[in-house]
Amino acid sequence: MPELPEVETTRRGLAPHVRRRRIVALEVYERRLRWPVAARLPAAVAGKRITRLGRRAKYLLLGLESGTLLLHLGMSGNLRVVNAAEPRRLHDHFDVVLDSGKALRFNDPRRFGSLLYTRADPERHPLLRHLAPEPFAAAFDAEYLWRVTRRRRLSIKQLLMNSHLVVGVGNIYASEALFRARIAPGRRAATLSRVETTQLLRAVRAVLAQAIRAGGTTLRDYVGADGAPGYFRQRLYVYERAGKPCRRCGTAVRARTQGQRSTYYCPSCQQ
Ligand SMILES: [Zn+2]
Repeated sequence: MPELPEVETTRRGLAPHVRRRRIVALEVYERRLRWPVAARLPAAVAGKRITRLGRRAKYLLLGLESGTLLLHLGMSGNLRVVNAAEPRRLHDHFDVVLDSGKALRFNDPRRFGSLLYTRADPERHPLLRHLAPEPFAAAFDAEYLWRVTRRRRLSIKQLLMNSHLVVGVGNIYASEALFRARIAPGRRAATLSRVETTQLLRAVRAVLAQAIRAGGTTLRDYVGADGAPGYFRQRLYVYERAGKPCRRCGTAVRARTQGQRSTYYCPSCQQ
């Protein structure tokens, strides 16, 4: 599943292609995505100029001179830049055709992605309005992490992955951040010290920033905006490395199940 670094990588890859371009047409080939693509959408966006490409959590926000398109890649989606005339492949569901002769083409075998539109401030959209802080936002600071960990019976890993507390920290990055902060994933969140919450905050940001710089993590169905895979996978310390030696101390990495997700950790380095 594309996680925040993959979406941010996609945003950075697409931005130069859409900047100041005008949408010639929105061609929808399959309306049955996670939510049906509105039948009036092509008429609503045709001819409009693109003013910005932003991101909130895992939504890409394509700002138009009036209104905003909200795109979500879902479980298996990707957006790539193609020549508009290039023949479609299986599972290509829509094209945002630009006045450059290129198109943003959305491919999604599982159709959990979405394409929505709002005329209002996108931050006020029902899907975005209640989202927790971004990991790089000033509101997500050591004091905030300290406060939200105090009253939780949850494990720290499950807390990090709770999108009501912070968005965009998925399974891979929660495992990797906890390794870097030397905190065992099964610890109750409330047992973290002030020093540990500060270290964890830094580790979350560092691991996400490194993944964004590396172009996301190579997963089976993820490719970046230009079709190239990410290279962060080679730098993972624990994720999907069960039984292999810890890159720091040599102890075998362990796997366990937490909240129906696999968690990877080093039993020596993480306390
Ligand atoms: Zn270790």
